[in-house]
This record gives sequence, structure tokens and C-alpha cells, in this order.
Amino acid sequence: MAQLPHGMMGVDDLDLPAPTEGEKVSKENAAYLPVSEDPATACSACKYFVEPDRCQIVTGAIDPAGVSQFFTPMAQNAPVTSPEGAPLEMPEAEV
Ligand code: SF4
Repeated sequence: MAQLPHGMMGVDDLDLPAPTEGEKVSKENAAYLPVSEDPATACSACKYFVEPDRCQIVTGAIDPAGVSQFFTPMAQNAPVTSPEGAPLEMPEAEV
């Protein structure tokens, strides 16, 4: 899995304020794609996604169907929805 850029690692753990838009990673540097090949790894299933179209760490408007190299799944048991807001069935995690 890709590492977050320097200075953004451990943000969740350190309880720091969310980065401002100017501190976020560009879509280019995040290798953002507007459509993920796999809905299970789309922005709408990522812990950094902010409804309806933002990301905590990548700049600009974010499509819920998109994806970047920083995709990080939400915590288990968190509701995951399709871009239309419908609940998605997530596969059981392999242990
Ligand atoms: S996959 Fe996650 S980190 Fe990447 S752009 Fe989408 S919401 Fe942001």
C-alpha cells in the first residue's frame, strides 16, 4: 500500500486538524482516477472520502466512483454505499 506524503502520515493517530485544501495532495500526485475499476475500492468506500464530493487528503472535487493510490478502506462494520447512496455488500475480509 502506498505511503502518505511526508507530513501527512499518522494524521488520524495524532488527532491533528484536517489538512487545508492547500496542504492536500494534488490529484496528479495521488494518481487519482475518476472511475475505479472495482466499486469495492472506490472513493465512496474509502475512509478519507467526505460526502458528497471531497477527500480529506486529495484536492478538488472527488467522484464517489473514483479512486487514488491512497485508498484506505473504512473500518469494518462502517456503512459503505454506492455512488448513488445505496448500501453495498462488502466481501468478508480474508484473515
Ligand atoms: S481513494 Fe480515498 S484517499 Fe484517494 S481520492 Fe478517493 S477518497 Fe481520497
